[in-house]
Amino acid sequence: MKLASFTTDGRTRIGVVEYERIADPCAVDPSIPTDMTEFLTAGAKARTALDAALRSAPRRPLAEVTLGAPVPRPGKFLAVGLNYADHIKELGAATPQFPSTFAKMSSCITGPYDPVHRPRVSDSMDYEGELGLVIGRRCRHVPKERALEVVAGYVVVNDLTVREWVGLTPQVVIPKSFDTHGPFGPWLTTADEVPDPQALSVKTTVNGEVRQNSSTAEMIFSCADLIALLSQAVTLEPGDIITTGTPPGVGEGFTPKRYLQPGDVVRVEIDGLGAIENRVIAEPDDTAFIDT
Ligand code: MG
Repeated sequence: MKLASFTTDGRTRIGVVEYERIADPCAVDPSIPTDMTEFLTAGAKARTALDAALRSAPRRPLAEVTLGAPVPRPGKFLAVGLNYADHIKELGAATPQFPSTFAKMSSCITGPYDPVHRPRVSDSMDYEGELGLVIGRRCRHVPKERALEVVAGYVVVNDLTVREWVGLTPQVVIPKSFDTHGPFGPWLTTADEVPDPQALSVKTTVNGEVRQNSSTAEMIFSCADLIALLSQAVTLEPGDIITTGTPPGVGEGFTPKRYLQPGDVVRVEIDGLGAIENRVIAEPDDTAFIDT
């Protein structure tokens, strides 16, 4: 099942994508949570209600609605760097013995087809196409062999990064969290449709030119490894996202470096999960403000 968050007529709710249409189960059963985090938190009961509502749910063309990030404001947006052997090589970094974990702030999240901002303070904006997983069950200290049981589904992520700021501070949280720098989607593909998350192609193009083309088989720490490790430290909760690192081909790895410019269109596609596509625009003037 492809679970989306969509907006039409000024209201946002979850829906189910079926080819070129989207079904609106909340329209026929008001007990179904309209917010993805609440829906996932409600567990099997909500899923049963959704399945039943789908029989009579109204459908509309996908092109007539606006898709948002499937989980608009997750409690946690966790990430790992340096998780593909070839990417480590292109950056000249050492292979980590322990996952290089960090967090993106959830305020950086934007929709799968929304514009993303080239910051006014730096021209070193770079793409990182990644597989993301969304947690479906509250958990802690999950053994690796059971780790995939807690995954609700998978998403396509672009872990946009301001490279210059990565070099200015030992902490990557802020360089990874500029507003609009966390697009993901286009929907949450439920885990039952992804038999092996370590066998998915990941492809990133900029203006149609292939920049990244790899497989999640190249990961050093698998999805299960990351869940097992992170849950040793924190309780994972429904809606939390873990993005799993990027393969080779980032703009930083070229000589000269090929950062994103206004007008560029960056697309990330993963086998069976669909694609997200974001146009880069110069950061608009209206991002400078102080509320009264
Ligand atoms: Mg990354």
